[in-house]
Amino acid sequence: MIEEIVEEIKERLKERGVEVETFEIESRLRLLMEEYGVPEDEAVRSVTNYFLKDIYVDRKDETPEEVKIKDIKEEGRHVTIKGKILTLWESRHEAISQIGLIGDETGVIKFTKWKSSNLPDLEVDRVYVVENAVTDFWQGRYNIKLNRNTRITEIDEDIEVMSENISYTGVFVKIHDGSGVIHRCIQCNRSVIDGECQEHGRVATNPDLRIKAVMDDGRSVQDVLIRRELTERLAAASLEEIISEDIDVLRRIEEALIGKYFVAEGREVGRYLIVENLKQIDEVPYDEAEQLIYEAEQI
Ligand SMILES: [Zn+2]
Repeated sequence: MIEEIVEEIKERLKERGVEVETFEIESRLRLLMEEYGVPEDEAVRSVTNYFLKDIYVDRKDETPEEVKIKDIKEEGRHVTIKGKILTLWESRHEAISQIGLIGDETGVIKFTKWKSSNLPDLEVDRVYVVENAVTDFWQGRYNIKLNRNTRITEIDEDIEVMSENISYTGVFVKIHDGSGVIHRCIQCNRSVIDGECQEHGRVATNPDLRIKAVMDDGRSVQDVLIRRELTERLAAASLEEIISEDIDVLRRIEEALIGKYFVAEGREVGRYLIVENLKQIDEVPYDEAEQLIYEAEQI
C-alpha cells in the first residue's frame, strides 16, 4: 500500500536528518506513480532524492551562527566555530583526510575532515573559523564533521583553549620499548639507558615504572603514556615488588592491555595522551569502519 511506502520513505529521510511531513511525501509519490505511471522502485528513489536534495540545496549557502564548543549539544546540526587545532591524529581511514581535536575558550571537540571535502590541511596551534560543520555524536561525546559544504579560514588571532581532559576509546595494539621498569637520572629526571644520562653522563638513578603504548580506534592511532601508579595497578604489583621479586612486568602489562578495549582519559601533551584514567570496556558496539563509509557516502 502507498501509505506503507510513504512511511518507509519518511523513516529513511529521518535517518538522514531530514524531517518531511507525510502529506508532502504522499502527494509527490502519488503524482509520480498514479499520474505518470512511474514504477514503484523508481518513484521511491526519486521522491527520496527529491527531499534530500531540497535540504542539501537549502543548507548549502547558509552560514550558521557561531557557537561555543560547550554549547554543542545536538547532533545533525550545522555550526560555525572558531578554534585552535590542538592535535592531529594519524588517519587510518581512506575517506578521512584529517582527524584531531579543536578547542576554544569553553571546550575541546574532535573533528573529522573528509577527503571528499577538498578542504585545505589544518595545522596544529593555528586558529581557524570553521563554517558550516555538522555535529555528530559518538561514544558519549559530540564531534564535528567537515564536509564539502564546510569553509575554513585561518585567522591571525590566538585563543586561550580551556584545558580539559580528553578521552580516546580504542584497542591497545602495541607496547613500545622503554616500557616497564626504567631508571631516571637523579638530577634531571630523564630516563637513563645503561646508567648513562644523555645530559649528565654516568649518574645515580631512581627506578620508575611507565608504559608507552599505542591505541587504535579503527580510524586513527594514539600514543599513550601510562605513569607509575596506573602501571602498578595494571601489573597488580608495586614497583618495589616488581624489582625485589623480579616480576616480568612487561608480560603482565601485555596481558592486561593488548587486544583489549579501553577508554583512556587524560591530558594531551605533544603526541602523547598522558593517561589519568583507564577503563576497560566491551568491544566497540558495531563496526565503526562500516559506519564511516556510510557517513562518507551520505556527503
Ligand atoms: Zn640527567
